[in-house]
Amino acid sequence: MSDIRYSLEKYKGRSTRYHCPKCQQRTFTRYVDHHTNKHLSDYTGRCNRVEKCAYHFTPKMYFEKNGYESNDFTKPVFKPRPITQPPSCIDKKLMLASLTNYHQNNFAIGLTKYFPEHLVLEVLQRYYVGTAKGNKTIFWQVNRLGRVRTGKVMQYNSATLKRVGYINWVHHITKQKDFNLKQVFFGAHLLIDKTKPVAIAEGEKNAIFGALYYPQYNWIAVGSIEMLNVHKVNTLSGYQVTLFPDKGKAFEKWCKIAKAACFIVCVNTVLENTNLNEGDDVADLVIAVKKERYQDSSASVIDSFKNKNEYLCSLIDRFKLKVLNHSDLA
Ligand SMILES: [Zn+2]
Repeated sequence: MSDIRYSLEKYKGRSTRYHCPKCQQRTFTRYVDHHTNKHLSDYTGRCNRVEKCAYHFTPKMYFEKNGYESNDFTKPVFKPRPITQPPSCIDKKLMLASLTNYHQNNFAIGLTKYFPEHLVLEVLQRYYVGTAKGNKTIFWQVNRLGRVRTGKVMQYNSATLKRVGYINWVHHITKQKDFNLKQVFFGAHLLIDKTKPVAIAEGEKNAIFGALYYPQYNWIAVGSIEMLNVHKVNTLSGYQVTLFPDKGKAFEKWCKIAKAACFIVCVNTVLENTNLNEGDDVADLVIAVKKERYQDSSASVIDSFKNKNEYLCSLIDRFKLKVLNHSDLA
């Protein structure tokens, strides 16, 4: 075989000459592809009437017009398909066993300052938030099929609900060999309900605050600002999606992602329109709102009296005293 892949067809009688696309004379020679032994096209060739017609359409012009294919100039190379290892999973029993002992879970303890205990417990169990040794919290990542991909282990200050110390992972702690980590959204298991709108937060803590404060959404978390991209958003194209970025830079970045998505994605602007600090999140917003309400409430008045007079607590308990609202008195 010749090294040149395309050349003008050699003269082998009248049948190897064609009507010229320009002058219509049967003086046209077509280019042949020697890999396929076929003409490149019926218009790629040269008219032999060089002086009078001068039509010449080269293979290069043909490919510039029609686009190159990867194997046009090189022989196809067959590579063996790489064997893809399936994502590893963690035993579901381990996860289910952790969904308890919330009185020894700093995150859960902190949440009960802002929300009723029964509601906190219900949300933590529904979102697969577990308790780890040392009052730590595990945010399990479970996919739509119920497979446990891993768990993110974090420590919180129960008073401030701010994270302290390092992040750890269940697949590290349990020393799984050859673990093929493939993370999913925290809360991904809830996506089996396609009818409920989806809210995306950066961090797991925000997804939980969101679930408690805006229960109309199924909340999922990506882990961090950098973990969200257009591809991940596009995997949710069957859902009604709203992004809840942290205030400031993240808002701008996520707005761009929402715009680039293949379907309509909303970006919540509540945080942007507050006077909270750059980088503050849904959790900060909810805490600020709850504190404001508490300061205006009768409970805060009672608490301030209690601080002034230590006997007031026992008095309230003994006589089962209750605070009445104005409406109760009317
Ligand atoms: Zn011609």
